[in-house]
Amino acid sequence: MPHNRTISASYLEYSEEEELPRDIGELIEAAKKASEGAYAPYSGFSVGAAVRLSSGKIVSGSNVENAAYPSGSCAERTALSYAITNHRNDFPVSIAISARGNSGIPAQVVSPCGNCRQFISEEENRTGGRIRIILACKDKTLVFESISDLLPLQFSKLSFV
Ligand SMILES: [Zn+2]
Repeated sequence: MPHNRTISASYLEYSEEEELPRDIGELIEAAKKASEGAYAPYSGFSVGAAVRLSSGKIVSGSNVENAAYPSGSCAERTALSYAITNHRNDFPVSIAISARGNSGIPAQVVSPCGNCRQFISEEENRTGGRIRIILACKDKTLVFESISDLLPLQFSKLSFV
């Protein structure tokens, strides 16, 4: 007989901006600012991601679209690629994501796509630490403590053995 199992995820939801811890608020502001650098002529949807490194330094990136759609990059991967390239031993500890469409900041959070979840998962595996994921939208902020909450049963190098 098969067993019925459940996968669950927990996260914090903040509905008041004043409730946000200062470091989270600061990272969201950096993500919002990063969205201004988006190259999004096709979707008109600008996304910014800001990564806090273990030293406290913040690096950021935005989405970069391409006429050949799959050739573009999401903000999360732009920011993390920059962090990995330039600060290899200063590990990412959190990432905030903020988006802006033609009608402003969306009412619902924009969460990382499957590719970006896998990318964040790889980075957690490389560094051996957890990466807090902060999703901000107009009226609320969701905080996940690890990519495991957004990508359960993830594929990793452990899958090879
Ligand atoms: Zn993505």
